[in-house]
Amino acid sequence: MIVSTRIPEVRSILNAQRSQGKRIGVVPTMGALHEGHMSLVRVIKPHCDYVVLWLFLNPTQFNNPSDYERYPRTLERDTALAAEEGVDLVFAPGVEEIYPAGLDAYGEKRSVRVYAGDRSRGYCGAKRPGHFDGVVHVVAALFNILQPDVAVFGEKDYQQLQVIRQMVEDLHFGIEIIAAPLIRDKNGLALSSRNELLGAGSAGPLSISRALRMAQESVIAGERDVSRIKELVRREIESAGLKPDYAEVADAETLRALEQISGPAQLLVAAYAGEVRLIDNVRLDYAGR
Ligand code: AMP
Repeated sequence: MIVSTRIPEVRSILNAQRSQGKRIGVVPTMGALHEGHMSLVRVIKPHCDYVVLWLFLNPTQFNNPSDYERYPRTLERDTALAAEEGVDLVFAPGVEEIYPAGLDAYGEKRSVRVYAGDRSRGYCGAKRPGHFDGVVHVVAALFNILQPDVAVFGEKDYQQLQVIRQMVEDLHFGIEIIAAPLIRDKNGLALSSRNELLGAGSAGPLSISRALRMAQESVIAGERDVSRIKELVRREIESAGLKPDYAEVADAETLRALEQISGPAQLLVAAYAGEVRLIDNVRLDYAGR
């Protein structure tokens, strides 16, 4: 496995692979790898011949500087895990490599930026201003650097997945986007790099996935009223001592907020366990009953 921090080097490695007819697949991550990330590598493998893992803690997608500072950084462990999983190339650039004009999009340098569209407006986009602009910009840059045939994104970040699908369509990237299922631990907690920041043995965060399951069951039992589903979710999370940030039901593709469930719908939730913000989501099965 090759580890590189430089764009020109990565470009020439990938050009050589492409000239041998290899299909390039990319797994974008911010590092602090866990089993959820490794599942993405397994999902993309059958779709390509050469797997690139991108490790980049992107400062422009953090709306909260202390979240950026506290974010776990485990590069050595990450590269070891990538090698074990059979990744071909790890691309781990520094901030200056990706943002040669600096980070200030609005200052004197007025860097060129890509901005997210309407799917970024609610949910995490509303609660974390600028977050999805940072995401689409860095993913567009990544796609231009690597020019992959295929990229994989986890359903853990459901809104991000839909925002990126929209970007690829609107900017004609011609890159296949694959969705990977959300991976949970044995207790149901959605795996996340931020889980490392949770106190050991704390049961509160489990209330999120429990609330999602209860919502799913209520829909299976015939509930269609979104306000009642949201109420149920909030109550369950609050009673475990967490602070809900939002709980919304959206059209599963366009992410438009729903009041009644009458087709494929996604329940999207964010909540604070102390200082740590956790997100989760689930499909609300609608059997047409
Ligand atoms: P991150 O490093 O948090 O930016 O995540 C990188 C990629 O891994 C994103 O596409 C995430 O959606 C995906 N991912 C993170 N956690 C999980 C999980 N528990 N299950 C599936 N995919 C995940």
